[in-house]
Amino acid sequence: MQGMMMNMPLSVIEILRFGAQAFADEGIVSVRCEGDIHRETYAEAYARSGQLAHALKGLGIGIGDRVATLAWNGYRHFELYYAISGMGAVCHTINPRLSAEQMVYIIRHAEDRVICTDLTFVPVLESLAAELPQDLKIVVMTDRAHMPDSALDLLCYEDLLAPQPTEYDWPTLPEDTAAGLCYTSGTTGNPKGALYSHRSTVLHALFLAVSVPRSVYEGARVLPVVPMFHVNSWGLPYAGPLTGTSLIMPGPSLDGASVYDLMEQEKVTASWGVPTVWLGLQGEITKRGALPKSLDQLVIGGSAAPRSMIEFFEEKGVDVCHAWGMTEMSPIGTQCQLPKHMQSLPRKEQIDAKTLQGRRMFGVDLKICDEDGTRLPQDGTAVGELFVRGNAVVSGYFNNEEASQAALDAEGWFGTGDVACITPDGFLSIQDRSKDLIKSGGEWISSIDLENLAMAHPKVANCAVIAIPHPKWDERPIIVVVPQDAGDPPQLDEIHALMDGHMAKWQFPDALELVDALPMTATGKVSKLTLRRQFDGYVLPDAG
Ligand code: ADP
Repeated sequence: MQGMMMNMPLSVIEILRFGAQAFADEGIVSVRCEGDIHRETYAEAYARSGQLAHALKGLGIGIGDRVATLAWNGYRHFELYYAISGMGAVCHTINPRLSAEQMVYIIRHAEDRVICTDLTFVPVLESLAAELPQDLKIVVMTDRAHMPDSALDLLCYEDLLAPQPTEYDWPTLPEDTAAGLCYTSGTTGNPKGALYSHRSTVLHALFLAVSVPRSVYEGARVLPVVPMFHVNSWGLPYAGPLTGTSLIMPGPSLDGASVYDLMEQEKVTASWGVPTVWLGLQGEITKRGALPKSLDQLVIGGSAAPRSMIEFFEEKGVDVCHAWGMTEMSPIGTQCQLPKHMQSLPRKEQIDAKTLQGRRMFGVDLKICDEDGTRLPQDGTAVGELFVRGNAVVSGYFNNEEASQAALDAEGWFGTGDVACITPDGFLSIQDRSKDLIKSGGEWISSIDLENLAMAHPKVANCAVIAIPHPKWDERPIIVVVPQDAGDPPQLDEIHALMDGHMAKWQFPDALELVDALPMTATGKVSKLTLRRQFDGYVLPDAG
């Protein structure tokens, strides 16, 4: 029997229309590329999104067209999110850290009609001009006074908005209409497009709102370090107006000192980002000897949060919420706020738990399977490939039949490419990406576990463990370390001493190599692929 309720489709613009009415005092604070700080309320953002939708319509954008963005976190990017999706077009966020070749590939693959860029990236577009589609319109997200001189035919964002009315007749769309498009960073092969719908986007925002209540609530001030140019800044631009959380947008400056200053000036209560960013903030906090005053929670995800990082912040009274997810999951899958019964545990045990990736959000199901696809028990011991399904998980990839065919297993679950175990009470423990696991003598070694332990050494600023081919053992781990002080680097036996008792001796890295910096991916994670290439031909101490 069918229910007898109105079928009102979920819609992205409804989030901002609601936020504009319900939370008159909240909004967006942005560090602008122009150099100053800009403030607008959600009501102002809603009105300007209406103007922007009219302007985009004037440029020929209609339902289903792709409009690209190439921009930092800021209010104009936020307005684009809502105007583009609201008018029924698709907001295609482009990661400016992609290679030129990949950027051209995705602009062409997405068939973008218009691209809206921050001032910073105008030179990038100039350098790509010959390879971009001739009819691609370029809008620079600034005002007339800041428009750059360029050989390109550039449109000015503020000029486009100025003459337009603020009221827009937002269309009623089926809720599975595409709203956003984000390409995976494609470390192997071409990037693949995750095509989010209005339904998945709204539901993901609602799931976030109930799952991470210490970050998002009326009056909270959240600094998304995690970029709007990749996986929708983990959903914060939607969770903000939905819950009355103000968003403090950092613009281009993401170093420890800039993030610290912005947190302090804007009374930031929570901030979300990848571990690399928090390493920078840790350094700044140590230097200044104090926390930014209002900081209450950090959400850390994108790669494993090292235990030493969790300890550092927790000891200073900042709640650390470790989270796991991926582009194909909108992106959050699990989060590690501790359930009530664990909050009275001794600190060490709480931190033990927080090094895990946490429990599933509502709307996400997890399973682990062996190589034959047989389900493994969630007993905290069995390790297998992690599969997910849920309301905000992709069912395939945009215009990519081959990748879509391979995305789901026979039961319709999405294969994450991560290797994990799950405890009986539902805590996910990511062991590695399957391609980063190290196979030694027929057994597996988790590079994440080794890195976590080594990060606790005071002489280690950052590190990564990779596999090196070995004639007898197949592969052996080595640890590549960025030392805190190049004049006094850590020794391999000191690192081994930290691992003693936590890992079996045969799992310890065979060698330690020092580098000035680790290669990073476009999403701010250590690029193991590039690192393995850098160590191609490396000869292990006992394998020569
Ligand atoms: P890309 O970096 O290619 O854009 P994603 O941003 O989708 O890809 O990254 C998803 C992957 O990042 C996951 O499959 C997982 O391997 C890794 N990851 C994300 N969060 C965590 C975490 N908290 N701990 C360990 N690995 C993580």
